[in-house]
Amino acid sequence: MIINKAYRFRIYPSDNQIEPLAQHFGSCRFVYNHFLRKRIDFYAENKDKEKQGLTYYDTAITLTQLKKDPEYVWLNSVNAQSLQQSLRRLDVAYNNFFNKKAKFPNFKKKHSKQSFLVPQSFNIDFRKNLLYIPKIEPIKIVLHREIEGAMKSINITKTPSNKYFASILCEIEKVVKPKKRGNQIGIDLGIKSFFVTSDNETVDAPKYLHKSEDKLAKHQRYLSRKVKGSKRRNKARMKVARIHEKISNQRNDFLHKLSHRLVSENQAIFAENLHVKGIMANHHLSKSVADSGWSEFVRQLRYKSEWNGVSFEQIDRFFPSSKRCFSCGWINEFLTLKDREWTCQCGQVVDRDWNAAQNILLFGQKMVGQELPKLKRSGRGGAVRPLAELRS
Ligand SMILES: [Zn+2]
Repeated sequence: MIINKAYRFRIYPSDNQIEPLAQHFGSCRFVYNHFLRKRIDFYAENKDKEKQGLTYYDTAITLTQLKKDPEYVWLNSVNAQSLQQSLRRLDVAYNNFFNKKAKFPNFKKKHSKQSFLVPQSFNIDFRKNLLYIPKIEPIKIVLHREIEGAMKSINITKTPSNKYFASILCEIEKVVKPKKRGNQIGIDLGIKSFFVTSDNETVDAPKYLHKSEDKLAKHQRYLSRKVKGSKRRNKARMKVARIHEKISNQRNDFLHKLSHRLVSENQAIFAENLHVKGIMANHHLSKSVADSGWSEFVRQLRYKSEWNGVSFEQIDRFFPSSKRCFSCGWINEFLTLKDREWTCQCGQVVDRDWNAAQNILLFGQKMVGQELPKLKRSGRGGAVRPLAELRS
């Protein structure tokens, strides 16, 4: 199995490297935006015709012509391959949109995160801690960890708080054997807590995250009051960018530790499909779906499971995970969002989130055709009904 792994290292460009880096960011952003505009316009003019849209190759040919135009001659001072990669990214963004994986591509903004890709002709001197990329003098890089596998490409980024990074994409060959034994777990991604598992473990989003979020809201208010173009506004913008960055680091750290632990402790993991979760929820919840980092968490669970031979499945159909008593299968039609706990007709005291996680586990196991595990019982319980009774 081939695994793609990205290693991110901080780089420290010198004063005279910042300018050529800025040229690369700016030119790649220009190419992306220029051809996004071209593609939109082309579609508007040709939607009734046989050829409705531009392909990657169409845009690559036009780019070559554009670089000969005296008005755009400055494009020649940056790595030509990085410019082509901007067209590739645009093409990927279009495909993701058409495959309903993403929204329609946005124009890239100057104050957002900047990036350009170096697909080849790069190198790293691991003894001298130097990064070599075309058209720029060797840049100081801090290699805080060893890298594995063959280096495939390097993505250079600049954050809104003016930090520079190099993400090195590596291909690693790995033999993965499926885990044969171990715990199986269902996860209910929650609103009140981050999630509850079928093992009855509740995980909350860490308090420091909430604190940082409050701080962010405060500084965003300050920023909105500053006069556009003023020095103070710029300063406030940097402050907001730094808090954003801190939150994203804290959140990533939290998610990585959590996904790592779940994958190492379990043989099979089941979760709901977030799309289903989002549809079932009201508007307020949809925002919390986006904010809580669930989709990133699910992404991590998926690839970490894959790398470690753990089975990870998402249940992508509706079923009454909260309303159904995990113990006897009775459906509580009277359950409202406010009810955190209820007593089933079989006598089982049902905790809303824990119950949902148990049902996700049961439903997931049924989906992959596994045998039913013995249920741990707490409280008086009736007979366990066959899973065939799970209905959607
Ligand atoms: Zn029951």
